[in-house]
Amino acid sequence: MSSTVVHPTTTGGPGLPQERRLVTPVPGPRSTELLARKAAAVPSGVGVAVPIAVVAAGGGVVVDADGNSLIDLGSGIAVTSVGNAHPGVVAAVTAQAAAFTHTCFTIAAYDGYVAVAEALNRLTPGDHDKRTALFNSGAEAVENAVKVARSHTGRQAVVVFDHAYHGRTNLTLALTAKNQPYKSGFGPFAPEVYRVPMSYPFRDGLSGAEAAKRAITQIEKQVGAENTAAVLIEPIQGEGGFVVPAPGFLPAIAAWARANDVVFIADEVQTGFARTGAMFASDHEGVVPDIVTTAKGIAGGLPLSAVTGRAEIMDAPQVGGLGGTYAGNPLACAAALAAIDAFEHDGLVERARAIETIVLDALRLAQQEDPRIGDVRGRGAMLAMELVDPVTGDPDPALTGRVVRYAFEHGVIALTAGTYGNVVRFLPPLSIDDALLSEGLGVVLEGLALA
Ligand SMILES: *Cc1c(COP(=O)(O)O)cnc(C)c1O
Repeated sequence: MSSTVVHPTTTGGPGLPQERRLVTPVPGPRSTELLARKAAAVPSGVGVAVPIAVVAAGGGVVVDADGNSLIDLGSGIAVTSVGNAHPGVVAAVTAQAAAFTHTCFTIAAYDGYVAVAEALNRLTPGDHDKRTALFNSGAEAVENAVKVARSHTGRQAVVVFDHAYHGRTNLTLALTAKNQPYKSGFGPFAPEVYRVPMSYPFRDGLSGAEAAKRAITQIEKQVGAENTAAVLIEPIQGEGGFVVPAPGFLPAIAAWARANDVVFIADEVQTGFARTGAMFASDHEGVVPDIVTTAKGIAGGLPLSAVTGRAEIMDAPQVGGLGGTYAGNPLACAAALAAIDAFEHDGLVERARAIETIVLDALRLAQQEDPRIGDVRGRGAMLAMELVDPVTGDPDPALTGRVVRYAFEHGVIALTAGTYGNVVRFLPPLSIDDALLSEGLGVVLEGLALA
């Protein structure tokens, strides 16, 4: 085993040739070699969905150690929305690394943290007085949002929804719905978490008002508003299958929370930052959450997350009650400021809407020919097709797996999602060009036609 530190020598970013190019079967020999080392060094619980050794990425491609260039329809799960190795992010992080890399914000303050807080207070829905605290991961943001809501209300219960995904820490596993692979064997889970039905138009056929009534009745009868600290919801569910609730569902839940002094928390970890064709998904229906959690797209790939909420709610915890050694790390904050600048000034919200048109048109056209595409849904650059048995309507996860495998073998990274594992999701970086996007989609649909 070599102990030599290997520094990457390949430059990524938008300057990479924007092409699908396979020079070996994938995974190629160098990728296979890395995956063998991974198997010997990393626990098998840490899975790898796309078995390649990445050496560079940017624009709409990911390049592996064998020289293959794959079209990226996943953005590392909606993270590299501004594009991988975005030049502004690279410059900001490089400059910050040369200045200082860490103080621990709760020991000694610095500008970047406060500037990110100011930006999020300005950009998140609503023009009320806000405060933002920074953390490292989406799960950590959700945990802290729950801490704040409990501290503010003096209540304990947290209401979550079917198909929800909120992270992998112990509290967030309690909040997450899906057993395999996330929860199985990892209990006991945190108490005072109550799950109610989600609005899932393709599967429940209910209007937003009907679905909200069903959920609210269950909260009132089984939990009680007087015991409920927070209702926590993804405005469009991510891992749960890109479930877009019926119109009116989110506003009705938010209105009920407001009327009952329950903190309404929108988990925008996946939907935030232009991803859905608005800066935040709550904006589509004019919903103003009391607290918004963000992460994934926030910092161009660096680990950062945030909890932004009404000042009077956010200020409830005692001094020292919120924080963390690395929370709001200066490199991550510098990256976030560069990424936020790109979201605001490079037309990325509009770009997400243009991507929506291209992808939805292609998927709907394919759906007319292929009854296995049960549903096509999503917003912006967060889009999906749900694959089913055309006769029974039952989810078809095996077909979904074959489609994604075909895509990979033909140079396209596409991801699955869904409680039933039968959703192909499209989360391209907003920096992908139209030709590459269409080519990538074409390969996925070809995979479906042949599967
Ligand atoms: C990914 C995700 C999380 C967890 O974020 P991590 O950074 O993986 O901890 C939480 N909520 C939603 C909606 C997510 O998509």
